[in-house]
Amino acid sequence: MADRPDVEDFGHEPMNIITNGKLRAVVCARCVVWDHGFNDVAWPCTSAIVLGLVPRKEPSS
Ligand SMILES: [Zn+2]
Repeated sequence: MADRPDVEDFGHEPMNIITNGKLRAVVCARCVVWDHGFNDVAWPCTSAIVLGLVPRKEPSS
């Protein structure tokens, strides 16, 4: 990711799925490609979370 040059994203990055001009979903570009069924893999995917590409949810307490 451009704003996180210190983090290797391995191709895991958010990709907008636009249908008829409307944003339908945000999926992981890497995981969708790897899925033979081309199922939507919602962003952030598990790999992105593990790699630290997205902020982890902070404990509420
Ligand atoms: Zn992914």
